Amino acid sequence: MQTRIYKVDPWAPDPIVIEEAAGLLASGEVVAFPTETVYGLGANGLDSRAVKKIFAAKGRPADNPLILHIAEPETLHEIVADIPERAQILIRRFWPGPLTMVLPKKPEIPSEVTAGLSTVAVRMPAHPVAKALIAAAGVPVAAPSANISGRPSPTRAEHVWEDLAGKIAAVVDGGQCGIGLESTVIDLSGEVPYLLRPGGITLEQLEAVLGRVEVAGEVAASQTPKAPGMKYRHYAPKAPLWIVNAETTTQTLSLLNRLVEEDLARNEKVAVIASAETVAALEEKARPGLILRSLGSRNEPAVAAQNLFAILREVDKAGADVIYAEAVGTAGIGAAVMNRLYKAAGGRVINPDPEPSERPGRAK
Ligand code: AMP
Ligand code: MG
Repeated sequence: MQTRIYKVDPWAPDPIVIEEAAGLLASGEVVAFPTETVYGLGANGLDSRAVKKIFAAKGRPADNPLILHIAEPETLHEIVADIPERAQILIRRFWPGPLTMVLPKKPEIPSEVTAGLSTVAVRMPAHPVAKALIAAAGVPVAAPSANISGRPSPTRAEHVWEDLAGKIAAVVDGGQCGIGLESTVIDLSGEVPYLLRPGGITLEQLEAVLGRVEVAGEVAASQTPKAPGMKYRHYAPKAPLWIVNAETTTQTLSLLNRLVEEDLARNEKVAVIASAETVAALEEKARPGLILRSLGSRNEPAVAAQNLFAILREVDKAGADVIYAEAVGTAGIGAAVMNRLYKAAGGRVINPDPEPSERPGRAK
């Protein structure tokens, strides 16, 4: 399949181009488009055949449900069976924006979208291109991130192209995504609101309007996950990634230095992803072959969120054999950054002890 590219102004997309891309969606094709979180891979959410094409293009497991995207809050009652008061509060406060709500579904929502669950996830994005495209399509648009399943999510059209060229009808290129991480997912179908995935809207913001919000813990293999997507390794670069986490930044730096020296001595290509401050300190010693990427200043988790996925793809392209990532603070959107890093690392964390050479499971 030849994949078309439509380049648009992210703030004022050409209506003729939007109509053409919406026409593809209406005729059952899949189209990637920018949102304020990451690029989405959209299909008509009421058409099971179209939705199946999303799973096929991404190689996404069929038991991982999709989010339906709508252009106005009024459409919500066509999708969900009941809109509780707290959903209305969240809509008024956070829509359009990076917040997905899980609610009991209406029977007409195809089971492919919800992976057979009785609930459906819905979001109203704020990005002008996403809004225009969904409105023009005239249907709820099912859209997971537009990457091969398991890979870092795309924050630029080129990332979509890398993963999906030839497999989808079109990419609408609206430049770089603003937030850089996927939406916050909150389950409102039970007694207590349940945060399933941290994202652009923080736990602090949700609790300020809802009161108590439960937080989903890491999912053990034996458990049935609350959000089906939680059991999969996600966002992963090709090389093994380790999170480096020490008490203080000085300890982290000396641990990173030790790990890097060890691996370089073994002729491995090492990448370090860290705060601007740590990168600057690591640069003080010239080490040819060391790949250093800054997530931005330690005090700016929103910048780390914007950069993370693009950097994971970059270190892959640079041919890293092993990647170390400095843990960031978990205030605000930092919680979402760490959530994605843990998943990208498949849970691998290095603390100062034991000695690096004694670390278990060091082999790849
Ligand atoms: P993605 O489309 O890759 O951004 O992932 C969507 C996330 O929302 C995944 O973690 C899904 O498991 C989760 N999700 C979608 N629908 C539901 C639902 N009905 N109940 C719980 N989680 C859901
Ligand atoms: Mg995804």
